[in-house]
Amino acid sequence: MALIKLDKEAYKFNLRQLALRAGGYENLICVFKDNAYGHGAQILAPIAREEGVGFIATRNEQEALALEAHFKDILILSHRPNGKEDPRFIYALNEPLNLKDFKKNTRIHLKIDTGMRRNGICLSNLKEFLDSFHRYDLKLEGIFTHFAAADEDESYHFQRQNFQKAKDLARNFNENLIFHSFNSVALSRDTPPKDELCRVGLLQFGYGDDGLKKVLSLYAHRLSQRTLQKGQSMGYDNAFVAQEKMRVGTYDLGYADGLFRYDARGGLRLADGREILGKMSMDSFSCEDGGEELCVFDDARIWAEFFHTISYEILVKLHPSIPRILI
Ligand SMILES: *Cc1c(COP(=O)(O)O)cnc(C)c1O
Repeated sequence: MALIKLDKEAYKFNLRQLALRAGGYENLICVFKDNAYGHGAQILAPIAREEGVGFIATRNEQEALALEAHFKDILILSHRPNGKEDPRFIYALNEPLNLKDFKKNTRIHLKIDTGMRRNGICLSNLKEFLDSFHRYDLKLEGIFTHFAAADEDESYHFQRQNFQKAKDLARNFNENLIFHSFNSVALSRDTPPKDELCRVGLLQFGYGDDGLKKVLSLYAHRLSQRTLQKGQSMGYDNAFVAQEKMRVGTYDLGYADGLFRYDARGGLRLADGREILGKMSMDSFSCEDGGEELCVFDDARIWAEFFHTISYEILVKLHPSIPRILI
């Protein structure tokens, strides 16, 4: 049985570090979207709550409903208004044209486009928008923005300045609004403004800052073992050929579990340095025999580099059906 182990103490440690940097748990919005970045939202939610997290963000209502029992506030990031909004949740307003489609009294956090140009209302339209907002029976509770490249000085400072202008404007309109802009990269480089919450995803799981601890490790278990003679091939398309007699094992994790399909081009290594041999199958891979249990990775960056992507993508694709346990 393939298995994901989640390190409870590492997760708690990371949360405490984030709370310190954000100025307390009350200033944290933990982003739990997409099964908590593939980690397992249901398992991590009670730990976050026990530690003191009261506010999370999810992708959609389905995720919010599944976590609702644990948290006081849940912001839904990617909702398309349909008139059926749930009064227990807060909804991101990504498109001002859709304001009319929300159910009355829906709690809203307005996204400001400060330069990413993906979602939200343009800063130049904000005043007009706020002036006319009272026409809709909606509750505006917060204002936020998202950085396109918090690790690039020019882009980051440009967006921060724009968000400051948005805050100044919005405060005139309603002094009880809450603000948030800091994502993981911003929080790892900078101290957040005192009047903001931090909306943090990846840092929770130990990536993006060397002072934090990795939470997730992925394991596979042996399905079978055999001896290959020199010259014998193994797996699809006979892509691996033994150069000498060797003992190999086949393990129960494949690309159906959300891993990229390794095509035997060479160089993809497990946590202990062992190389995957031949092409990855849908439900299994093979390598030099490593016993009953092998750690596939405890640091997704190795797989991210190999497949020319980011750790987010390696983690989030881990299939929800892989069993997850706390260690
Ligand atoms: C995913 C997401 C975050 C969290 O980003 P990290 O880089 O993981 O911290 C914050 N805000 C929004 C709008 C997001 O979509």
